[in-house]
Amino acid sequence: MAIERTFSMIKPDATKRNLTGAITKMLEDAGLRVVASKRVWMSRREAEGFYAVHKERPFFGELVDTMTSGPTVVQVLEGENAIAKNREIMGATNPAQAAEGTIRKTHALSIGENSVHGSDAPETAKIEIAYWFAETEIVG
Ligand code: ADP
Ligand code: MG
Repeated sequence: MAIERTFSMIKPDATKRNLTGAITKMLEDAGLRVVASKRVWMSRREAEGFYAVHKERPFFGELVDTMTSGPTVVQVLEGENAIAKNREIMGATNPAQAAEGTIRKTHALSIGENSVHGSDAPETAKIEIAYWFAETEIVG
């Protein structure tokens, strides 16, 4: 299995509850390495651009409101099979359906305030990493 990079976010609902360390530890315990990390308070324009793929969905306005409501920690994670591994440790989008031991089952408040984001495929990982990080900010 190849070493991959994926893009992760610790969302405002989690940073507000001081869960940055707890969530990062769950990612590290799953075998992922944080190779870039910064705390941002995203603008509406940044949130709308990042989530442009969802702009026709009924929850888009709520999603942008939530993502601009406080600080987010944006990260690049590296490891074997990192994209799928991160999705696995995150758990299902709706925490009510997330498996025991996942980040969303443990920490998420609702489908909207679900604590973490993770890229869903190699192409989206590449685009999402480049949206937030310059190559020089990623130190493996
Ligand atoms: P995931 O984050 O698991 O990849 P999606 O890409 O489908 O999920 O959705 C992006 C984000 O939009 C979700 O993480 C969640 O914050 C929000 N979202 C998705 N579905 C809903 C919904 N039905 N109501 C409110 N927010 C939602
Ligand atoms: Mg998604």
